[in-house]
Formats: sequence, C-alpha cells, structure tokens
Amino acid sequence: MNNVSCKYFKKCGNCQLLNKSYEETLKYKLNYVNECLKKYNIKEKVSNIIDADPNTKYRNKMIVAYKYQNGKILSGFYEENSHTIVDIDYCLMHSDLQNEIANGIKKIFTDLKIKPYDEDKRTGLIRYVLIREAVYQKEVLITLVTSTDMFPARSEVVKRIRSLSPLIKTITQNINPRKTSIIFGDKERVLYGDGLIKDDMCNITFNLGSKSFYQINPYQTTKLYQKVFELAKFKGNETIIDAYSGVGTIGMILSKNVKNVISVENNRQAVDAAIINAKNNNIKNVKFICDDATKFILKLSKENIKIDAIVMDPPRSGSTPEFLNAAIRFSPKKIIYVSCDPLTLARDLAILTKYYQITDTVCVDMFCWTNHVETIVMLSKK
Ligand code: SAH
Repeated sequence: MNNVSCKYFKKCGNCQLLNKSYEETLKYKLNYVNECLKKYNIKEKVSNIIDADPNTKYRNKMIVAYKYQNGKILSGFYEENSHTIVDIDYCLMHSDLQNEIANGIKKIFTDLKIKPYDEDKRTGLIRYVLIREAVYQKEVLITLVTSTDMFPARSEVVKRIRSLSPLIKTITQNINPRKTSIIFGDKERVLYGDGLIKDDMCNITFNLGSKSFYQINPYQTTKLYQKVFELAKFKGNETIIDAYSGVGTIGMILSKNVKNVISVENNRQAVDAAIINAKNNNIKNVKFICDDATKFILKLSKENIKIDAIVMDPPRSGSTPEFLNAAIRFSPKKIIYVSCDPLTLARDLAILTKYYQITDTVCVDMFCWTNHVETIVMLSKK
C-alpha cells in the first residue's frame, strides 16, 4: 500500500505524514535522522530503514478521551499538542477490533447516560478508556479511567462491555481525581478478570497491566528486538547491562545468549512486572534493579565488575552525560543504543563517539505515518 487516506487527517494531526506516500515517509525519516547526526558532527549516516508490514492497524493500545457537547458524547483523540477532542469513529492505525470496542463503549456510555468528565467544571465521571490488545495471544484489557471511585451502573457497564467481544479478558477501573493531564491515577480496581493480559514477544510471554510500558507496534518491535539480537552477536559468556529496561523485554530476549543481564529501570510497576515475567518464563540470569539509570551505573562503577556490553533504550529525553561517561569507563566491547528520538540520540552519540566508533546503524519504522522514528546504533570500542 502506498497511500493512505484518512478523513480526519487535517483535524487530528497525530499522523503528520499522511500526505506522503509510504516510501516518502521512510525517506523523510532517514533524512531527519541524518540531519540530527550532522547537527552534532557525527560523520556516519543512516541509510537503512526497516519498513513496516502492515503499516496501518498496527497500534496495540488505544487511549480514548471523551467530552460531552451539545447533548452528545464525543470520543476520540486529542489534536496534536492540544486538549481539543477530535470525535472519530475509526482510526486507521488501530485494529478493527479496537475500533469496534471503542464505538461499542461510546454507545454504552450514551445509552446508560454516563457522563464524561469535564475538566473545567470538574463534573462527570469518565476521563479516558484504555483498550490494550495483545495481538499474538489475542487478549484485550479495558481500563475505565474515572474521576471518582463511585461509579453508578458499574456492573451493567461491565456486563455490556464484556458482550462486545469474547477477547476481552479483563476490565479495570482506574481512579484519577486529580486536576492533571496525566492519564492514570494511583488507585486501580479490577472489575472483571485478573487485571492482566498476556502477550508473546520473541518466544517470551509477558504479563501486561494497564500501566505497563510496552512497545506500541508489536509487528515492528519483533523486528527491532531481532535486529538488536543480531547486531549484538553474543557468544554466551558475557555480562551485559540493559538500561532503561521497561518490563524487561530486551534483557530477557538477550538473556538466552549471554551469561548475565543487569536490567535497570526507574518505574517500580514496570520492574515488578519484569520480575514476574522473568519468573513465568523461567529466566534466571537477569537481575532487575529499580533505580535511576545514571545513579545506578555510577554506583556500579565503584564495584569491581566487568561489563562486556551495554544495551540502552532511553526515553525521548535521551540519557545523561554522567551515564554515558560511566558507560565508557566500564569499557564494554559494545554499546547498543536504541533510540526513539534522533536528536537526543545524536547529542548522546557525540559523547560516546569520543571513545567508540559507530559500526552499524538502522532505523525501524515503528510509528508509521507519524514523524517519529526508532533508530538502533551499534558502537564498538575504538
Ligand atoms: N527497553 C524497554 C523500554 C524502553 S522505554 C522496551 O523496549 O520495552 C524507556 C524506559 O526508560 C521506560 O520504561 C521508562 O520508564 C524508563 N526510564 C525513563 N527514565 C529513566 C531513568 N532516569 N532511569 C531508568 N529508567 C528510566
């Protein structure tokens, strides 16, 4: 498929590149990564991008926002960088199942006269609904984010939502009473099922809750992790660090081919999930640390430990000079940097390339039709 037409393109703005052909979007992304590298005087260029198939209906997570307007419930996404809701009945980047469930839930709220939350007046109940689909295990989790604990017609809502699809395995209620643009509150209650769904990734089974960080494009994530695995070429006797490890995916996948993995992640919920995931998969050679990656690596530097490789996958803000310099001091043979923001990647590479040379680069089109791009950079000691 070359071109995709979406009736909400101009209004919604979340898929910034829908006015291009798919091939053009890939070129645009490569070009952007190369511009960022150039800005930081990195001489290597990226010329390879792993394309996506499918490049629509790929997102495994939908967060629907609601608003009550002129006697009707509007539901959809926020326009890019705004708090205005685009009322949509179909998003091309989500599966038919997620779209059907979203429309079904909107109808349930309308029929039962359940009001969306109004941010200004601070009235109403429903703030968001999360629909998370485990595409390989075919399980769906629904989380209703509400402004209060009290939820009139709760059991009727649950009954009706369950009837939308037999794949809905669990429904939870997350309570977020705060005046904030953060989606989830701290308190969560299971309304049906056990609050978790399972998904497979590279032959490992992961338990996922409403707040677990999980890559949003499962088809491309498999290719991303395989590429990391391929580039790493581990022999089996290595001790490696998996920094910014989320629910432990990369470290667990690599664990089969190394001696030990030390995973570090600062989100407690993600670390707890990672520990359970490792146990369920009978993986015993990964140690999970809940800490700030920089603080942890600085502490680890004081121990007499040999690190053979570092895999790092920081958030968009990138890493820190302290982390990068400590990583260099460990003198690992390889550093594999997985990035979701080319600009912070280039900034961090400017530090790493003083002592390491770039031996391989590849982009992965994870977020098709948007201007976001994932990049893997393999560095070896000079
Ligand atoms: N490697 C994982 C997650 C990557 S997303 C995967 O592929 O699924 C980046 C992760 O870094 C998130 O889980 C986020 O919670 C974590 N993070 C953000 N800042 C951090 C910090 N300062 N120290 C440790 N982890 C951090």
